[in-house]
Amino acid sequence: MASYREYHRRSVEQAEEFWAEKARLIDWQRPFDQVLDASRKPFAAWFRGGLTNLCHNAVDRHLAQRAQQPALVWESTEVEAERSYSYAELHSEVQRMAAILQRHGVRQGDRVLIYMPMIPEAVFGMLACVRIGAIHSVVFGGFAALSLATRIDDAAPRLILSSDAGSRAGRVVPYKPLLDEAIERCAHKPEKVLMVDRGLHGFQPVPGRDLDYAAERAAVGDAQVPCTWVDSTHPSYILYTSGTTGRPKGVQRDTGGYAVALAMSMQDIYCGRPGGTYFCSSDIGWVVGHSYIVYGPLIHGMTTVLYEGTPVRPDAGILWRLVEKHRAQVMFSSPTAVRVLKKFDAAFMRDRDLSSLDRLFLAGEPLDEPTAAWISDTLRKPVVDNYWQTETGWPILSIAAGVEALPPKPGSPGVAMPGYKVAVLDENTGQPVAPGTKGVLAIEWPLPPGCMQTVWGDDQRFVDTYWSNFPARQVYSTFDWGVADEQGYVTILGRTDDVINVAGHRLGTREIEESISSHAAVAEVAVVGAADSLKGQQAIAFVVPRDASRIADAAGRAGLQAEIMQTVQTQLGAVARPARVLFVSMLPKTRSGKLLRRSIQALCEQRPTGDLTTLEDPAALEQIRSALAEQA
Ligand code: AMP
Repeated sequence: MASYREYHRRSVEQAEEFWAEKARLIDWQRPFDQVLDASRKPFAAWFRGGLTNLCHNAVDRHLAQRAQQPALVWESTEVEAERSYSYAELHSEVQRMAAILQRHGVRQGDRVLIYMPMIPEAVFGMLACVRIGAIHSVVFGGFAALSLATRIDDAAPRLILSSDAGSRAGRVVPYKPLLDEAIERCAHKPEKVLMVDRGLHGFQPVPGRDLDYAAERAAVGDAQVPCTWVDSTHPSYILYTSGTTGRPKGVQRDTGGYAVALAMSMQDIYCGRPGGTYFCSSDIGWVVGHSYIVYGPLIHGMTTVLYEGTPVRPDAGILWRLVEKHRAQVMFSSPTAVRVLKKFDAAFMRDRDLSSLDRLFLAGEPLDEPTAAWISDTLRKPVVDNYWQTETGWPILSIAAGVEALPPKPGSPGVAMPGYKVAVLDENTGQPVAPGTKGVLAIEWPLPPGCMQTVWGDDQRFVDTYWSNFPARQVYSTFDWGVADEQGYVTILGRTDDVINVAGHRLGTREIEESISSHAAVAEVAVVGAADSLKGQQAIAFVVPRDASRIADAAGRAGLQAEIMQTVQTQLGAVARPARVLFVSMLPKTRSGKLLRRSIQALCEQRPTGDLTTLEDPAALEQIRSALAEQA
């Protein structure tokens, strides 16, 4: 077996040869004639000239060998239901969904927005889109009307696939009223809304616009919809993610590069066995769900488990009962889920037969050492951290045990994965720093296959945001601080920008600030992320009210705090609601008016505030300090 170091060296130094080999892991209807088109740097087009289809690779090509093998298993502890679809059944359902989309005018290149709970129809919708060359944009069900509206207007979908409601911790969460409100706000109106009626929350269909999925499904019968062969570079999907501005970026992914990268990762990183079961407890609204609930496991011929529920309901043993029941070979979850489970009795895990499980993968946020130690001791299985981003679609750093099981290093997600030329750069000069020195984690051109192609509809934003941080070098900035050791293990030290990570959910502080500012009583606001023992980080808002008399007494303060939290919840969703809202009469700024976020954050985390020579008025920091002390 090759050493991983040698394998990785080849993946970056002979990248075209390496990826041409990996391209054999998927089916091509027509072979590509160029592995990497470098004619438009920093853009990179992989497998130029090749024709393929993501749905063919995820479903159709397995029919010869796996028609009766379960492809998709749905488990819901929310509505007490389970359903299983073999590859043959999934093939039929996806074709039905594709026929419905076509019937209502969806064509190659059209966008379909998917705002759905964790139910099989959401997966049918994704696969049906890529089957016919339509571009899906899944919006996380926890987002509310304003978040949804921004995404509808940006993606301009011809059709939206949605449902009456989801369910969270046993409570019905209506989707339809939020969707109607979002469409109301939008300049772009979708022509059709395809509604999967779960019977959880009654709704009034909008005549002429809303379609009933059950009726449509019956009408198309056993429709046969062949795969549309698309260029390798044809966009498969758009997935919005938060950045430093209030406007989320549409991460655009290609088709061929993505399929190849996922197929490779299933072997090299996740060590999945075709025919085995992959259980990823994320949500299809996030990139982890796209890559490792839907596309990765299916491309690899595995059975994927789609779970609607939380890790602690009906009790803290549920995830492990599902592993036992479905004989999961690979499991993927988040550090927050593990920290939640840590509060419960380890017997929930120990009393289960987990002999099928090879490894547990954790990603989405930093994995702290006590949590990593607790879960590996309790589970007695290898626990593998992996670091990546919505933009990259698959891990940048991890351990590729499928090539060589390098020893893990506590506190580090691992080493650069195949194809990633990772560099740690000096923040000011852009020069690589020595091992042991903190710098900005960057990736040298080209991003490997499967990573974002561009920002949807805005090539310039892609170049300006990601490739212009170090003018002398053509590097992609991850916006994370990192430090590498002599062996190439990188430790992540937090974001360089104003993005925060709450329970693995990436949120832009700007977006939350804009939402809070829309409240009439708010003059100014600063939102920062502060360390939280359970969720990794939590958002804290410091608000300057327009009229100080509103917060003169405790009741006034509590009232305004509740209103502000509700504003964020209604506009963006509960996921973005700040954990605390504190009042001050001014915010700490530099003399040129720039907010001193890092100092505010330091105070929230009881750390030294650092250099304050540029601070205009020291009293502002004092106010932050006392607001925090009062609420402690
Ligand atoms: P998202 O695009 O929502 O997946 O968020 C990506 C960001 O989450 C990264 O830029 C990191 O800041 C953080 N992140 C993801 N995975 C890890 C990990 N394994 N360790 C540390 N930070 C992580």
